[in-house]
Amino acid sequence: MSNQAEDIFNFTATSDECIKCGKCIPVCTIHNVNADEVTSPRGFIDLLGEYQRGNLDLDKQAKDIFESCFLCTNCVDVCPNSLPTDMVIEEVRADIADKYGIAWFKRAFFTLLRYRWLMDIMMKLGFVFKTCGFKQESKAGGMRARFNLPILKADRLLPSLSKTSFLNKYPSTINRDGARRVAIFIGCLANYNYTGIGDSLVDVLKELNIEIFIPKKQKCCSAPAYFTGDFYTVETLTKQNIEYFESFFEDIEAMIIPEATCSAMIKHDWEIFFKNRGMDDWAARAKKLNKKIFMATEWLYKETELKAILDERDIRFEESITYHDACHAKKVQGIEREPRELLKSNYEIKEMSDPNRCCGFGGVTIQSEKFHLAQAAGKPKAAMIEQSGAQIVSAECSACRMQISNSLYQNGVDVEFKNPIELIDKALKERKSD
Ligand code: SF4
Ligand code: SF4
Repeated sequence: MSNQAEDIFNFTATSDECIKCGKCIPVCTIHNVNADEVTSPRGFIDLLGEYQRGNLDLDKQAKDIFESCFLCTNCVDVCPNSLPTDMVIEEVRADIADKYGIAWFKRAFFTLLRYRWLMDIMMKLGFVFKTCGFKQESKAGGMRARFNLPILKADRLLPSLSKTSFLNKYPSTINRDGARRVAIFIGCLANYNYTGIGDSLVDVLKELNIEIFIPKKQKCCSAPAYFTGDFYTVETLTKQNIEYFESFFEDIEAMIIPEATCSAMIKHDWEIFFKNRGMDDWAARAKKLNKKIFMATEWLYKETELKAILDERDIRFEESITYHDACHAKKVQGIEREPRELLKSNYEIKEMSDPNRCCGFGGVTIQSEKFHLAQAAGKPKAAMIEQSGAQIVSAECSACRMQISNSLYQNGVDVEFKNPIELIDKALKERKSD
């Protein structure tokens, strides 16, 4: 993801525009864990240029290199020419998928994303059988894996499954007579795993007397498939979502999303995806929706009285928070101030040394086939969270939550992860119990 979408199929032009200044290298997540020129933004761009000129085969080694980028956008942020390294890598991953196919477990996962009813059944089965394999629930809200699955390393913290998904738990409309009306897009991890986020968002909106619409037919935003090069799944899910959103967008003030990756995908990448494929009509439809799509803390901070309400309550919690800037929140959407402003009404914020450093989630391929890279990238993040001295780490992103919770667990750091919406909800409820 980047702010530059022009001509991303022209890898040679991107390569020619790279002035080799190297500004991107110190901030590159993969280069920081694998200090080799080929795994740096400058190296990726160079190789892509050679690939398009016909001088480089897309062989297994090249595949391995292009699949090691975390798509964190750190490079785009600092590049003087704003070269869209992340986006050209997303494009070449589609070529890789065409040439090599997509691993069976990823295809199975993306099929589940396309069929929500099937995903619901699988998640219910997962909940029923989870005690067979996942025994120890951690403070971070996950389950420690205690046996070897083919694609998951043992002794790894995975998010636990909820008995009932967020979308199946609530009616379509809540607080019917509220003065204003917003829709919630929940995201897959918050729908099936971290369901406390949606519960908290509902309670915060109720407290503000806002009518809540929960669009039951919403599908995955398609980010996991996009980052893996499965563009068939991206096109299918995106078109279904756009048609569905159009059916109710006139009747809502906003659609709010407590998830940075989903929000960035919907608001930023849907339009670019269609534009780059010459589907201008779909790109225009995606763009039209954008005006009403916000990250949850952004909308609550800018468009409601929530900040004043939290200030008035005059509650100070003993636990302090360190805030992690999810790549898809700060770098793609410019959201960093809003969650902090809301949280600092009731909590002390102890900034970690580099809140902007990528947590190392990296997407489906890195979390499965290249998990050692996620572990390496997660270690310094865990260390800076510990050094902050805070008891809670927060970010508005469940992919970061999954990665950071595991990094904390594997590095023995006793800090809890919470979405800012959960912490705000706690502050609102604290007053009621006084
Ligand atoms: S997106 Fe991140 S990991 Fe990939 S090249 Fe850029 S800085 Fe490096
Ligand atoms: S910052 Fe941009 S121009 Fe400079 S080396 Fe990196 S990709 Fe090339």
